[in-house]
Amino acid sequence: MKSYHRLSDIRNDLQLGNLTCQQLVSQYLKNIEEQEHLNAFIEVYKDEALAKAKDIDQKLKKNQAGKLAGLVFGIKDLLCLDKHRVSGGSKILSNFESQFSATAVEALLKEDAIVIGRQNCDEFGMGSSNENSAYGAVKNALDVNKVPGGSSGGSAVAVQADMCLVSLGTDTGGSVRQPAAFCGVIGLKPTYSRISRWGLLAYASSFDTIGIFSKSIEDNALVLETMAGADRKDATVSKTPVPSYSTMKGTQETYRIAYLPEAIETEALQPEIKSTLLATIESLKAAGHTVEPVSFPMLDYVLPAYYILTTAEASANLSRYDGAHYGHRSPHVHDLESLYKNSRTEGFGEEVRRRILLGTFVLSASYYDAYYTKAQKVRRLILKETQRILEEFDFIVIPTTPTTAFKLGEHTKNPLEMYMADLFTVQASVTGLPAISLPIGKDAENMPVGIQIMTNAFDEAKLFAFSKKLMKNN
Ligand code: GLN
Repeated sequence: MKSYHRLSDIRNDLQLGNLTCQQLVSQYLKNIEEQEHLNAFIEVYKDEALAKAKDIDQKLKKNQAGKLAGLVFGIKDLLCLDKHRVSGGSKILSNFESQFSATAVEALLKEDAIVIGRQNCDEFGMGSSNENSAYGAVKNALDVNKVPGGSSGGSAVAVQADMCLVSLGTDTGGSVRQPAAFCGVIGLKPTYSRISRWGLLAYASSFDTIGIFSKSIEDNALVLETMAGADRKDATVSKTPVPSYSTMKGTQETYRIAYLPEAIETEALQPEIKSTLLATIESLKAAGHTVEPVSFPMLDYVLPAYYILTTAEASANLSRYDGAHYGHRSPHVHDLESLYKNSRTEGFGEEVRRRILLGTFVLSASYYDAYYTKAQKVRRLILKETQRILEEFDFIVIPTTPTTAFKLGEHTKNPLEMYMADLFTVQASVTGLPAISLPIGKDAENMPVGIQIMTNAFDEAKLFAFSKKLMKNN
């Protein structure tokens, strides 16, 4: 069977009778099985997916199928599916079964998309290489000695290696965009609050966003328009009307685009990413767009602000895993304190424990103002400065990552080195703005290079329209 890159091609073949949903699902299952060594899935819903495919083939025959019939997707192990396990890539939830589905997942299922399995990720979304999973590291399909990025590494690899058409990941500081760049696929983080967070295991609630991996802009847009919008189960979700993203309205002939010299001149940037970005800028100019440098001296402060605020929120969110209510309970318990202490020490991995400690520290009475309050102020300034740029320009173009996919184990010894992988993705997270990573170019070792486009809140339609132009130019 051929490898499909967009739903419209699948729909064509279904219509023409060249393909059935059952064949499609069987092929994805085969691809998953043959590439088990990549460790992209924690659990595969084989029988269920095949049964659902059979149903949908019937519905298609009767012309009663939903708009996502033929779309096979996977979900990061931070998203709940009714009566299925969800563990956040953690030992602390290893046998936990969800009693409901995430609103976003349910929205896709309602339109007859088929969910094929639960995808590996860094524990509770904390990581940039997918090496912090209780289920083992995920490998990049283009080079198995390299990481796929994180934390939604399994979801990125599943799309990269044709194990499903689309994956749902989560993006708190880059966890969809960064692995998308490392794996050579498209990764979108929509505006914060565009999609309901109901059924998404919380890491840092004022940052957490469900994101979408795909190979085509059209599929990304279609999935977003199906999942976005108000939800009475999430009080923070936006009521801003959801436009029809997939019709690509909002296309202009030319745009005003800013790039940040600080992000290009930094020593941390791999030369091939720099040259890809510069070439992109030149081709945009040649296509008639206005492209100008805009200084953003605050770039150095984004990563520290991000790590102070997210660890603070994580320390509060993860306090619910206490060994008493649900999840792992230590067998070495003699009183309440040892129940908490031992269950959490045994259940959480090293990085999660580090962040809980760090978050508890920045929230502690003596340091609250010095770290947490200050970081909140910095967050507001970053937003103000970024919005100032976006008042004058339609988009900000910036690398997705400082380097391409690195070797497994290369940064595991030094957390700060690992955090550097998020240097360019955290601006959109701290500000809540939408951003997309597009696979544009390759490095000297043939590993993918991602370019990131950021825009104003709720301007995803424009983001998709521009992305389409950029991908075509490429
Ligand atoms: N790598 C970042 C972190 O570890 C981003 C994670 C994410 O977006 N979930 O916090």
